[in-house]
Amino acid sequence: MVEKDVRIIVARLTEDPQEFSGTLSRSILEMENEKFVRPVGDIEYELYAQLLGTEALIRGKMSQRFVAMCSRCAEDFEFTLEISDFTYCVETHEKTDILDLTNELRECIILELPSYPICRDDCLGICQTCHTNLNKGECSCKAEVSNDCWGALDALKGSLIEDDLKKKEK
Ligand SMILES: [Zn+2]
Ligand SMILES: [Zn+2]
Repeated sequence: MVEKDVRIIVARLTEDPQEFSGTLSRSILEMENEKFVRPVGDIEYELYAQLLGTEALIRGKMSQRFVAMCSRCAEDFEFTLEISDFTYCVETHEKTDILDLTNELRECIILELPSYPICRDDCLGICQTCHTNLNKGECSCKAEVSNDCWGALDALKGSLIEDDLKKKEK
């Protein structure tokens, strides 16, 4: 069953960690309109909740698959975001409190998403001149740009790194 939220009833918590596991709908990520990174499947979570005095401590892990456009070569690729150290601690005022963890889980995932996803560490990106995906083979402009130090770097590392270099030159 895919849940729409994760709620924990504080009155049922004890000092011993209790497991809360399940599948949370990817819709809680509110990423329907994102073009470059899209969640696929749903969030699998495994949390442990316990009372520490007047506080509730929730720890655990979760994972979500995404399809993202590589910021170097512009090809779509799939990756799994794994969060192994989710921790949330909150003061509980009444034993009847219900802790809704949905927002906490969402924020944790959003914060962990790479700003510039790359399909692999050694992705060669696209040629700045002819837009050939250099992972799929060399293009004919390679000899030309190799005479120009910066051009060769740009071609190899893609527009992302190029932007970085420009910033550093300033
Ligand atoms: Zn790539
Ligand atoms: Zn080229």
